[in-house]
Amino acid sequence: MRTSAEWKALSESVTLRGQAFIAGEFRDAVSGETFPSINPAAETKLADIASCDTADVDLAVTAARKAFDSGVWSDLAPGDRKRILLRFADLVEKHGDELAVLDSLDMGKPISEMISVDVPDSIDCLRWTAESIDKLYGEIAPTGNDTLGLISHEPAGVVAAITPWNYPLMMASWKIAPALAAGNSVILKPSEKSALSVLRLAELAKEAGIPDGVFNVLPGFGHTAGKALALHNDVNVLAFTGSSRVGGLLMEYAGQSNLKRVWIEAGGKSPMLVFEDCEDIEKAASTAAAAIFSNQGEVCIACSRLYVQSSIRERFTEALIEAAKVYRPRNPLDPETRMGALVDKTQLETVAGYIQSAIDEGARVLTGGVPVSTPGKGYFVEPTIIGDAQNHMRFVQEEIFGPVLAVGEFSDEAEAIRLANDNRYGLGASVWTANLSRAHRVSRKIQSGMVWVNGWGGGDSTMPFGGMKASGYGRDKSLHSLEKYTDLKTVWISL
Ligand code: NAD
Repeated sequence: MRTSAEWKALSESVTLRGQAFIAGEFRDAVSGETFPSINPAAETKLADIASCDTADVDLAVTAARKAFDSGVWSDLAPGDRKRILLRFADLVEKHGDELAVLDSLDMGKPISEMISVDVPDSIDCLRWTAESIDKLYGEIAPTGNDTLGLISHEPAGVVAAITPWNYPLMMASWKIAPALAAGNSVILKPSEKSALSVLRLAELAKEAGIPDGVFNVLPGFGHTAGKALALHNDVNVLAFTGSSRVGGLLMEYAGQSNLKRVWIEAGGKSPMLVFEDCEDIEKAASTAAAAIFSNQGEVCIACSRLYVQSSIRERFTEALIEAAKVYRPRNPLDPETRMGALVDKTQLETVAGYIQSAIDEGARVLTGGVPVSTPGKGYFVEPTIIGDAQNHMRFVQEEIFGPVLAVGEFSDEAEAIRLANDNRYGLGASVWTANLSRAHRVSRKIQSGMVWVNGWGGGDSTMPFGGMKASGYGRDKSLHSLEKYTDLKTVWISL
């Protein structure tokens, strides 16, 4: 791991490119418009980013369609696509520190998290998915003897991926790895708050040998570039990760245009349940702190609702407050830093507003609660734990997307399940118990796409990632992710 001074030096020498990447070339937006990308830890401008809109979307979709129809990628044997994607993964690994610095500068994430989570996970997703693509077989249907029924998967065509700012490189990788492996052409629209790393990714894709037009990156705002992509009649699949509100809009846009397939991976308000038979209270408490304070709480699966069985609440809360102490917000480029800056001023104000609403509704701040932001010095918030949380309170029901933990309590298993499910979201959940039967019972009853027993956040490329209810229905990672980007074709041959 580099030292703080070495990361700083890299951050000063790294190229910050803000142009769109279409048909294998960097170019300005057709309008010539740009917007600034801001370093949230210093409140300084990093680069001017191309503000793409409908005209750029038309260019990118035309380039993607042309590449798809030419067969230059879509007709390659899966094993050939695999080789190129593995080269791509190697280049991401080679330039991992550079990509880490770009995301850390752009959205305030600690460099230690980039190096331990985002970069290795992105590489693994690219490699694992590339490796899988020449091992998937079609089917022969059990029809009568006078026919042959073939069932196969075909690439869907032009895929638009719209991604959020909280894991810029990783969320992009979870979409582009299966979409490209399956043979599609891809247009990635990153969040306007963090486009730098994926623009560099586009260059690496070209260097790896991905043909021009097959992978395009269009930076821009949601209501311009994002909306134009979602309404475009020549986009076949729209893969989205972001808020539930925008997910709903994208479904409307698909209905207003060509009924493109829309995959929604949206917000969360994940519960953590700690039962009195939890074997290791200290471990559960430090995991609870990590589950809300890593990445400043800007994590879709953040366990922002903690329910502790009444008999151990006091002891657990003490351990939790102790565990939160390592998450003091500091310079993201210092490798010792465990919590960085919030992505922007709006997010800082949103988080501060939720803390105030919790106090107004009668909850009690146990630690933190004070924005430590000094104007001009970055958007930092203390790790905040709020006790006496009741499910009717706004800060317990709504996704805050910041380092704010609501702590409530339950008396028995039935109440724990009821409290956990009393929320519109259903992304993740964490359950702490030494009782195997209870672990299974509660996992079955919890309405969420993912449950971690005696842990949180674990997962690799072999396991699907996604939710239920207002958290959406799309799944990233695993072989299931390939289903999103392929069409099922049946061929009925009379013998
Ligand atoms: P967001 O919904 O505001 O934006 C996400 C993306 O959608 C951005 O690229 C944005 O430009 C674009 N967008 C916004 N309005 C649009 C419109 N009208 N048409 C088309 N595109 C539009 O979300 P965000 O603030 O970037 O990210 C935070 C959210 O993402 C949180 O709710 C978080 O839980 C969620 N998230 C979910 C997962 C998951 O896997 N389920 C993972 C990470 C983040």
